[in-house]
Amino acid sequence: MAPELQHTVGKAAGFSGTSLHTGEKVTLKLHPAPVDHGIKFKRKDLQDEPTIDAKIDNLKTVERATTIGEGSVRVHTVEHVLSALSAMGVDNAVIEMDANEPPIGDGSARPYVEVIKKAGIVAQETPRTFLDVREPMHIEGKSGAFLILLPDETFRISCTQAGPNNRFTQYLSTEITPAVFEREIAPARTFVYYEDVQPLMDKNLIKGGSLENAVVVRGDAVLSKEPLRFPDEFVRHKILDIIGDLALLGQRIRGHVVAVKPGHAVNAELARALSREGTRRAAVATPRTGPIGDGALDADQIMEILPHRYPFLMVDRILGFEGKTKVTGVKSVSIGEPFFQGHFPGHPVMPGVLQVEAMAQVASVLLFKLAETSSRIGYFMSADDVKFRKPVFPGDTLFVYAELTKTRGNRLAKAKCHCVVNDAIVSEAELMFTFVDK
Ligand SMILES: [Zn+2]
Repeated sequence: MAPELQHTVGKAAGFSGTSLHTGEKVTLKLHPAPVDHGIKFKRKDLQDEPTIDAKIDNLKTVERATTIGEGSVRVHTVEHVLSALSAMGVDNAVIEMDANEPPIGDGSARPYVEVIKKAGIVAQETPRTFLDVREPMHIEGKSGAFLILLPDETFRISCTQAGPNNRFTQYLSTEITPAVFEREIAPARTFVYYEDVQPLMDKNLIKGGSLENAVVVRGDAVLSKEPLRFPDEFVRHKILDIIGDLALLGQRIRGHVVAVKPGHAVNAELARALSREGTRRAAVATPRTGPIGDGALDADQIMEILPHRYPFLMVDRILGFEGKTKVTGVKSVSIGEPFFQGHFPGHPVMPGVLQVEAMAQVASVLLFKLAETSSRIGYFMSADDVKFRKPVFPGDTLFVYAELTKTRGNRLAKAKCHCVVNDAIVSEAELMFTFVDK
C-alpha cells in the first residue's frame, strides 16, 4: 500500500470576523507551506511578523480556550482552526492573522472548514508520520475529567459530556475522517454555562461574545440565536475541541480516545504525554552502531570544530546528521574520567551538568555545520526544562541527540536535546546559543 502523503492548502484563502475576547475585527488567511513545516500562526499585525509553532511545547494557558505563545507573542483560542486543519487532513500551513485571535465565526469550526475547502487541499511528496498508540494511556484531570487512549487502526473518539448535576449528559463515538468531521463535528458550536460567562461579561473579558457565536445554557434552558444544530451538539463540540488540542502534537494519531467530561487542560495533558512518548520512541529507534564515513565525524574531526579538549571534550564521535536540523553524537563514559574521582568516591555517577555539556557540544557541531564557518563560535546562553531522569554510570554509552528548533538570523539558535543510555532517556534539556566571532 502506498504511504499516506502530507498535505497542504492549494492556495491562499481567508475570511474576516470578530475576535471573541477583544471584539475587534480580525482577518485570517491560510497559506500553503512546504513538507514537514507543520502548522504555524503568523502575527501579521506585529513588527517582524513573528510566527508561533502550533506545538504543545508552546502551550501557555488552557482556561476556557487554548493559548499558545513564544517569547511575549501570544495566539489565543487556537483550537477550532487547528481542529479543522487536522481533521480535514492539512499537515502543513501558515495561519496568518492580524490580531492575537482567529475570528470566532459562529463558535463552530464550520467557517474554517469552508476556508480550507476554498483554498483546496493538495498532496505533497513526503509521507505523513503517525503516532501509533501501542499501549493504553490514561490522563486524569480536575472535576472528574479523564481521557484514556487505546490502540486502534484509525483515529477515533468516544466522548461523554456531562454538565452541572449531570444535566445535558451526551455520548458520541465516531471515527474522525474529513467527511465525518465536516458533516457531524465541524458545525457544533461552543456552548457555555450562564453562571460561568456572567462574571466574564461583567468584567468585559468577552467583548465579542454573543448568542451568535455561542450557545448559552441557563438552568435547563438553551439560549441561542439559531436552534441547536444537533440534539447532542454539546458532545460534538467537545470532540471538536479534543481534535484541536491534540493537533498540538504536530503528528497524526492512530488510536482511540475515550474521553469523559473532557476540557482543554486534560486534552493538552494528553498531547504532552504523547509528545514525550514520541520523543522517547524516536530516541530508542535510532540505530546504535557507530558508522565511520558518510556524515559521521571522528574525534579528530570534532576537535577541528570544537575548541574543547580532554578532559572537557564530552563527545567521542558524531554518528550522523539528519537533514539540517538533527544530529546524533556518542560519548563512552569510562571509569577513567577524571570527574569520577570525586563524584563520588566509591559511588561513581556522571554529573548531570556534564550531560548538559555533552548536549551543548553535540548541538554546537550541528550549528557549526549550518553556519559553515569556523570563525565564529556558539556560546551556550541558557538551559530550560532540564531533567535528569536516570543516573549514568562508568561503562555506559551516552547517545546524545540534538534537534535545532529555532534560529533567529545568525545570532541565536535553540536546540532540544536528550541523552539516551540503554534505550532510556537519562537526561534532557532545551538549550539556547548565541554566536560570537572567535
Ligand atoms: Zn471549543
